[in-house]
Amino acid sequence: MKTGIYPGSFDPITLGHLDIIKRAALVVDKLIIGVLNNSAKKSLFTPEERVAMIQKVTSDIPNVEVESFNGLLVDFADQKQAHIIVRGLRAISDFEYELQIAQTNRKVNSKVDTMFFTTSEEYSYISSSIVKEYAMYGGDVSQFVTPYVETCLKAKIKENR
Ligand code: ADP
Repeated sequence: MKTGIYPGSFDPITLGHLDIIKRAALVVDKLIIGVLNNSAKKSLFTPEERVAMIQKVTSDIPNVEVESFNGLLVDFADQKQAHIIVRGLRAISDFEYELQIAQTNRKVNSKVDTMFFTTSEEYSYISSSIVKEYAMYGGDVSQFVTPYVETCLKAKIKENR
């Protein structure tokens, strides 16, 4: 059984993330989406809200599970008996950071390897932070997130006003 973990903040999940999830789910038996519950990183949505949104938008992909985690990713991978970490690469700017993290993780736990998926070009410019900023100024984010996530974003922004 090949289990992969796709970790990230997913604050919120975008069409770029969803594209990586669909593609990664085809190459592993089980894909666990690990929502980083990091109190030091300020997020718009709580970890529970992020998990619920991802569950909703991935409900049609049978081999996907969603969980939040804190602490070290390699420990979470061990706990889940996962040997593959999935990450997405958008631009060259992602590469340097991702390479460092992948090498560090491998050094700490040699059983874990990182598999990179290059973004589909139609999603290459999408990031959760741009989506949030755009939505906060009332921009139309329907090209960047699913209709459900768009509704959640609008509700959250209204709640925070
Ligand atoms: P993190 O805070 O760990 O970077 P993100 O939620 O921003 O979490 O991203 C999680 C992963 O998804 C990262 O590997 C990131 O490069 C990738 N990713 C984010 N947006 C896209 C996109 N539009 N296309 C492909 N990969 C993406």
